[in-house]
Amino acid sequence: MVTNLRNDQAPLYIKVNDKDNTAIIVNEGGLRKGAVFPCGLVLAEGVPQGHKVALTDINEGEEVIRYGHVIGYAERTINRGTWINDTLIKMPAAPPLEKVPLSDKTPAPLEPLEGYTFQGYRNKDGTAGTKNILGITTSVQCVVGVLDYAVKRIKEELLPKYPNVDDVIPLHHHYGCGVAIHAPDAVIPIRTIQNLAKHPNFGGEALVVGLGCEKLVPDRIAPRENIISLQEQKGFKQMIHSIMEMAEERLIKLNSRVRETCPVSDLVIGLQCGGSDAFSGVTANPAVGYAADLFVRGGAAVLFSEVTEVRDAVHLLTPRAVNEEVGRSLIEEMKWYDSYLRRGEADRSANPSPGNKKGGLSNVVEKALGSVAKSGSSPISGVLAPGENARQKGLLFAATPASDFVCGTLQLAAGMNVQIFTTGRGTPYGLAAAPVMKVSTRNALQAQWPDLIDINAGRIASGEASIEEVGWEIFRMVLDIASGRKQTWADHWGLHNDLCLFNPAPVT
Ligand code: CA
Repeated sequence: MVTNLRNDQAPLYIKVNDKDNTAIIVNEGGLRKGAVFPCGLVLAEGVPQGHKVALTDINEGEEVIRYGHVIGYAERTINRGTWINDTLIKMPAAPPLEKVPLSDKTPAPLEPLEGYTFQGYRNKDGTAGTKNILGITTSVQCVVGVLDYAVKRIKEELLPKYPNVDDVIPLHHHYGCGVAIHAPDAVIPIRTIQNLAKHPNFGGEALVVGLGCEKLVPDRIAPRENIISLQEQKGFKQMIHSIMEMAEERLIKLNSRVRETCPVSDLVIGLQCGGSDAFSGVTANPAVGYAADLFVRGGAAVLFSEVTEVRDAVHLLTPRAVNEEVGRSLIEEMKWYDSYLRRGEADRSANPSPGNKKGGLSNVVEKALGSVAKSGSSPISGVLAPGENARQKGLLFAATPASDFVCGTLQLAAGMNVQIFTTGRGTPYGLAAAPVMKVSTRNALQAQWPDLIDINAGRIASGEASIEEVGWEIFRMVLDIASGRKQTWADHWGLHNDLCLFNPAPVT
């Protein structure tokens, strides 16, 4: 039963597309039975905020439509004014990958956007950092205890001497040994670790701490002069001494770096959503999509990800591919993930989460239609397999799981130097290696978490701001954050999640 429903505000719903026979309730706290909308619709029962109401009678087996697309079929007759919860909807089959159109509706390139810059750290390889960090990675999990001990001492004894360096971070992961390193899918964790060490925020100075007998030999991650091998050291104290000595050499170099004016095209923006609700697709994600277009117009790389949240909307994406080859790469990533899920005897119904459902999302089709709004309207210029580095500009699909921490890790490996993260239910997620800016989908979340949410897109639902206005606000705040002029709440509090590798290959 729905409790605490209020009827003290004018009833309001959002219908996204003319074809929709459903709309979501905007009112905070939801609405009670009998609420009357300006169009004359009367609620036949209480409906929580963000949940769907039937705008027309929908007979058993008929299409339930949101965003102008079928999100499912009525399990039984749904009368006008009824709450459509997930038990009333039968999920449609996923779009067949053999039949989706490729590159037949490629949008014209958007008009270039000039005159916007940020203050970043220029790297020798042409990339730019948004932070100045000493990163110390590992070739195997065995060394993590020693590395953490060393990092604690580096932070206490060395870092204060080098004020231009923002942080020292250990890059933990569970890979490196006890793994089937020659299995075909091992390429994913290996290239992720390799590319993480090359992240633009580490300025080309990342160190590697290795053990000496592991399967992932440290030379595969960095040049010899950046490697400390623990089995070559005489005792624990010597290990710590060697790590600290090499760390100080890098800190001296990093400390000499200064921010300089960089074009927007030096940004690699990662887009992600976590704790989504039914508002995600009408407030935060379209505003982020608008901002994504601004970044693409400025020449930046923009990564959108999360295969399981794109799979059911892939037929809307492949037509936007810049050419058929890119369209086919997108399909290949979907196919690979379908088979990965099948191998684990799971399917796409494993997404959404209970929290997503509580927020009004009935199934992954509805979630996907809202999720792809983040990709804006530009042509899709390229596709990255999991863990690959972004070598081109424009809107790119970086194939990753939808899991926030795994997606974040893979986007870092792609070179992402600012992440824009939309959330409806709320998450304190953050990353140590690159700033994560949080965008809320609802006013109530901003009110509940004013010291965790960076921008509130809920104002779009309440009519206080337009998608364009919030889009520009996101764009400008990213430039401030990338320049170090502004800090995200996650960085302010030091909320940083673990790196979580995607390893679909066997562990031995
Ligand atoms: Ca996610």
